[in-house]
Amino acid sequence: ARWTPDGGWHEAQVRPYAPLQLDPATAVLHYAQAIFEGFKAYRHADGSVWTFRPEANGERFARSARRLALPELPVEDFVAAADALIRTDEAWVPEGGEKSLYLRPFMFAQEAFLGVRPAKDVLFCVIASPAGAYFARGVRPVSIWLSEDYTRAAPGGTGAAKCAGNYAASLVAQQEAIEQGCDQVAFLDAVERRWVEELGGMNLYFVLDDDSIVTPELTGTILEGITRASIIQLAGELGHKVEERRVGIDEWREGAASGRIREVFACGTAAVVTPVGRLAWRGGEVTTGDGETVGPVTSAVRQALLDVQHGRRPDEHGWLHRVC
Ligand code: PMP
Repeated sequence: ARWTPDGGWHEAQVRPYAPLQLDPATAVLHYAQAIFEGFKAYRHADGSVWTFRPEANGERFARSARRLALPELPVEDFVAAADALIRTDEAWVPEGGEKSLYLRPFMFAQEAFLGVRPAKDVLFCVIASPAGAYFARGVRPVSIWLSEDYTRAAPGGTGAAKCAGNYAASLVAQQEAIEQGCDQVAFLDAVERRWVEELGGMNLYFVLDDDSIVTPELTGTILEGITRASIIQLAGELGHKVEERRVGIDEWREGAASGRIREVFACGTAAVVTPVGRLAWRGGEVTTGDGETVGPVTSAVRQALLDVQHGRRPDEHGWLHRVC
């Protein structure tokens, strides 16, 4: 659908996947006025198709839109757009295992002009792609590189928004992580360079030796993960005390070394829950657990969430939205 100041949202349509044609002066190409979302549709054993917490993604999308001076799309329209796309050919929602249909809504400034101001012509689209299991060869702990040179987000910046520029800014840090032999990058806060924020595309959780679980609190510079929020609830129901508070990088390093931290995991829509083994930085590294096997709490949380998504565990919170 397209938005203009006079017409509001209009021209809603479902059409075959095809390239977009853009004027070279299209604002988004120069000023990055763009936001996106990611969520999934799952086929349950009875053949029905459900999306997981699409309203939560729609609300986050609306918050991102406000931060990027983009027009707000009503949450009902956000959800309906994905529904309409899935229903055109529901056969692309794969069956079984951990398979799903990944949905990618996005909105960007399509007005052609050079000059820094909010665009008066905006496009909202949803594309979809079938996704296999994230861990094709079984779940295994990933290794993390601590970014000491780069930050992802600063106070007053766009860290809490899911906007394109945040990811552009994190590319070199992720590249550095790979060069250092790690899978993913972890970011610290921009001010004190001390508090653990999140990974490039996932939120973090720590399981302590008293069986409680800690996750970095929302500071305005961390993305408010929907998986993060879901795990706060599910872990509580599994009997864990869950605390949202600041976690210092020293607490991670020392806790992993001393055994105070028993498990570390990361979470997000794509991987659901990923165990974290090794944390490396310039001049050192520490491993949680044996670095090879998945801890019991990580495993239980992961399974509980997957079971809700795939309809194998009662959906007590009304997280599932029936599409067809
Ligand atoms: N942090 C960042 C920076 C992300 O890109 C994502 C993925 N959307 C997450 C956390 C996890 O969020 P969610 O659980 O909503 O996918």
